[in-house]
Amino acid sequence: MPRRFDVVVVGGGNAALCAALSASEAGASVLVLEKAPEAERGGNTTFTAGAMRVVYRDAEDIYSLVPDLTAEEKEMTDFGSYDEGQFFDDMARITESRADADLTEVLVTRSFSTLSWMRSKGVRFLPIYGRQAFKVDGKFTFWGGLTLEVSGGGPGLVEALTSAAIKDGVEISYGSRALELVMDDTQVVGVRFRKDNKVTEVSAGGVVLAAGGFQSNTEWRARYLGPNWDLAKVRGTRFNTGDGISMALQANAMPWGHWSGCHAVGWEMNAPPFGDLRIGDSYQKHSYPFSIMVNAHGKRFVDEGADFRNYTYAKYGREILAQPGQFAWQVYDAKVIHLLRDEYRIREVTKVSADTIEGLAAKLDGVDAAAFLRTVADYNDSVGTDVPFNPNIKDGRRTSGLDVPKSNWANTIDQGPFEAYAVTCGITFTFGGIRINTDAAVIDCEENVIAGLYACGEMVGGVFYFNYPGGSGLTNGSVFGRIAGANAATSARKTPPA
Ligand SMILES: Cc1cc2nc3c(=O)[nH]c(=O)nc-3n(C[C@H](O)[C@H](O)[C@H](O)COP(=O)(O)OP(=O)(O)OC[C@H]3O[C@@H](n4cnc5c(N)ncnc54)[C@H](O)[C@@H]3O)c2cc1C
Repeated sequence: MPRRFDVVVVGGGNAALCAALSASEAGASVLVLEKAPEAERGGNTTFTAGAMRVVYRDAEDIYSLVPDLTAEEKEMTDFGSYDEGQFFDDMARITESRADADLTEVLVTRSFSTLSWMRSKGVRFLPIYGRQAFKVDGKFTFWGGLTLEVSGGGPGLVEALTSAAIKDGVEISYGSRALELVMDDTQVVGVRFRKDNKVTEVSAGGVVLAAGGFQSNTEWRARYLGPNWDLAKVRGTRFNTGDGISMALQANAMPWGHWSGCHAVGWEMNAPPFGDLRIGDSYQKHSYPFSIMVNAHGKRFVDEGADFRNYTYAKYGREILAQPGQFAWQVYDAKVIHLLRDEYRIREVTKVSADTIEGLAAKLDGVDAAAFLRTVADYNDSVGTDVPFNPNIKDGRRTSGLDVPKSNWANTIDQGPFEAYAVTCGITFTFGGIRINTDAAVIDCEENVIAGLYACGEMVGGVFYFNYPGGSGLTNGSVFGRIAGANAATSARKTPPA
């Protein structure tokens, strides 16, 4: 007889662990099947900085999520607010109005209560002073709707959720790769998985799939995202190869969302093929709004200052992949080097510097130096310096007359020393997946609910298209993970053991 749990959760990242905690809170016995060995547990979640987008009305809401802020920190910070309307608008604008309205409503309206719930489980939040706020006139001002991160980043989040789950009696089986769903005539009743070269079946009253996207599957990348996506570097875990999606599709789940779309960023050119936990997300290079980015032809190819980096970074990886040789150089002059994020100061960077722009041009590997110098000269001539530079707002300091404009934060590149950093495309996660409803129940190809089957996190389609507002992936996984876990527990109560 297979072992029986009320709820089996497939995956060991943020969405899975939130589902496990929620199911357990509802009184269910829970087994988590995590494909990775314990040393590599936690999926993409472990690789994150732990930034989470959340609705808050005012500083008081932030204080309730971060109760240990000192009086001095409160005094020196302008948190502003980020209301439901702003989160909705960001989702609509960034996804070109394609995000599923019902799922988005749940994501937005439950974001604050879900982070409060996570806090009650032992997750600690902190303001993202280092990356999401600049100090102007003695005060930190937050921008771009992204204010909080988890203490300890992604590893801190996985540790906090795992500890809470174990404390609640959740059983976690590492090195356990789920292979397929077990179904009877009417519903999902278990999972078949492989551990230690042995295939085992576990029976369940409800199953939650939270096994991530397919970004680590080279063949699926080329198949669904298109030519050259097989050449992208993977920013996170090597274990997200589309298994959960595949298992659900075999059970007739409806494919949904932007299957040819993904989240991809500018990433250290010589990074390894998959994420490296020693480095975490520091291979990303996200200060490009203060740079110009040039390709092998010495030409600019995107508006680096189109918007705050939170709203452009996830789509610019695709633009870099489309350049000859799939690389670009970000070029900075001395005026802005102090603004570079901490990820620029790690040892594992492909960086060149020079006192003169001609000297820098000669060092940009793979770039037409003469064309690059013409680009810089034309760019410098086009910068309107009458508008003051302000990194905290979209300052409107822009170029005029260029084919590829720079719409904000346009500074001339004329003051040495100069620095340049080489980047390629790093894929974060895929947008396509399977369809769920607002109960996180999986919908089949005939638009019926598949009884006993729930899904959450990266492997769900329909939430993100084209682009992505920074920090919403974790919030999405937490909100729907919590819902999926509770509903799987309810499903288990309705399904007595066979
Ligand atoms: C470098 C980097 C930085 C990021 N920074 C942020 C950030 O700051 N904020 C933010 O909101 N988002 C960020 N993201 C995106 C974020 O990681 C994801 O949105 C989120 O972690 C997805 O959570 P998940 O639980 O759906 O997937 P994951 O955390 O990837 O978990 C999926 C799990 O499924 C397991 N699995 C896969 N196949 C099987 C199988 N067959 N059987 C059993 N288990 C299986 C995997 O081992 C893994 O544990 C970042 C991503 C990366 C890579």
